Amino acid sequence: MKNVVIVGSGTGGLTAGNLLVKKGHKVTIFESHSAPGGYTAGFWKKGFYFESGTLGYESSGVMNKTLEDIGVADQVRRVRKKDRWISPQSDFAFDSLDAFKQAVYAGFPESRAALDGYFAGIDKIYAVMEPFVVGPVPMQFRGFAAFKAMLPYITGGRKFFQILKKYKDKTSEDIAGEFFAPGTPIYRIFCEIGYPKMGIDSLGGFFLSVTKDYWHVADGMQQLANVLAGKFKERGGTLYLRAPVDKILTARGTAVGVESGGRRFEADVVISACDYKNTFLKLLDDPMSVPAAQLEKIRKAEVSQGIFTVYLGLAWPNAELEKHLKAYTVNYSPLAYDLDFDNPNDADHFQKCGFSLHSLSLINPKLAPDGKSSLMILAMSPTHWQDNWRKDDREAYKALKERVKSDLIGRAEAIVPGLRSAIEYQDAATPLTYERYTKNTDGATSAWSWNPRKKFYTGGIPKMTVATPVRNLLIGSCWVGQIGGIPNAIAAAYLCAKKIK
Ligand SMILES: Cc1cc2nc3c(=O)[nH]c(=O)nc-3n(C[C@H](O)[C@H](O)[C@H](O)COP(=O)(O)OP(=O)(O)OC[C@H]3O[C@@H](n4cnc5c(N)ncnc54)[C@H](O)[C@@H]3O)c2cc1C
Repeated sequence: MKNVVIVGSGTGGLTAGNLLVKKGHKVTIFESHSAPGGYTAGFWKKGFYFESGTLGYESSGVMNKTLEDIGVADQVRRVRKKDRWISPQSDFAFDSLDAFKQAVYAGFPESRAALDGYFAGIDKIYAVMEPFVVGPVPMQFRGFAAFKAMLPYITGGRKFFQILKKYKDKTSEDIAGEFFAPGTPIYRIFCEIGYPKMGIDSLGGFFLSVTKDYWHVADGMQQLANVLAGKFKERGGTLYLRAPVDKILTARGTAVGVESGGRRFEADVVISACDYKNTFLKLLDDPMSVPAAQLEKIRKAEVSQGIFTVYLGLAWPNAELEKHLKAYTVNYSPLAYDLDFDNPNDADHFQKCGFSLHSLSLINPKLAPDGKSSLMILAMSPTHWQDNWRKDDREAYKALKERVKSDLIGRAEAIVPGLRSAIEYQDAATPLTYERYTKNTDGATSAWSWNPRKKFYTGGIPKMTVATPVRNLLIGSCWVGQIGGIPNAIAAAYLCAKKIK
């Protein structure tokens, strides 16, 4: 039996914790926040529930297998996403790639030939990735079952790597630019989907998840985290909340425990299930245990964009909100501006960008008080926007946050007329709020930059390594993969659990 300490109780930490206690190890999770979950969590305000990180998950095979292995599959109810996309040119809902294509072709009939060309590439990456995105991943199995789970990678792998090689460093903007004239609405559609300037594999994954395999947790993400935390404790694991780890302790290049609240906790293995940069740049007691060049690479690496979110509790019944939204999620973009997420100086960014409206009470009326409804408005932010949200001047920060909240509510009224008059509760989060609650650098929503030209994990073949230059320090978070996300957090957790015999 090993004595394992896990830093962080997001999906990665909770999954690793559960797999390890099930194997009979002594496991202690330290969580700095007052509730478990990290980016798979939520909060209640005045009877309204809001998600405090992701709104759902893709790659359902990975999540299903995890919940089954941990023995809680029957405790988590899921609901398939229901999206509507609105722009001045089109307004449509879809539940398949074909339906998505049909709607775009109908909105832009003059671009038929260019759309044919664009989708020919998407169809290829979609078909190649589908078998290994939708099912569980090989690291979730052992022995022959692992080999069986590997088969789609073996059969599709060659084609996948050929596509990666062909597109290499091309971003979604580059790919859109090959078919559509920059500066046109149709070009902007394909620049604005997913993360800014993402690579071909992320585009493939994006289309797969939005058209085929994206799920909400019917009772909210916090319920998923609570179920995982509950099972972990039931099996004998210890979860300390409000217990930030201040230091990861090392001796001669080997992790030997952590320090939290002035106390030392010994461990045979430490799993970092939290932000990668903080782990090496702030938590490690002896940075000399990592080669200087590696530390410099970690310091310089760019992270994924943060998000600005407005949380609204509405006096309206669900029926009134549904009349306007007609879906759980509405994605809106004016498609009128070229957005630059690498530019922190565009003061009008939040008056020009696309945004999503997401209603949890439409998914589950119990997530709002009787007869009332809720809405979240989400818009991606350029990193360090406006002097990093004027973070050094409290009043200026508050004023900027208030202005962006008000701007987004005003813009949402084009889709939900009268929205402002129905507000009973309102609040907002900047990327700095996300950072404060989860300690993810700059409020990075999904690990490292999604731009293939800014890779932290270099090399052609995406592979996952949980081992670090510090012996007995493993990575058990989504940061184990370039683009983060729940599937990567889970994959990291399984790899850690396999490594600890
Ligand atoms: C708005 C938004 C939308 C997203 N959408 C999607 C999506 O659609 N699909 C998808 O797959 N992913 C999505 N993601 C990303 C996904 O939620 C994350 O990649 C994933 O949940 C990360 O899990 P994790 O366990 O690696 O880390 P986190 O969830 O970040 O958990 C880390 C935990 O560690 C704790 N911690 C940090 N430092 C310390 C310390 N020193 N001591 C103790 N505890 C510490 C934190 O408080 C936190 O609880 C989204 C994220 C956001 C914010």
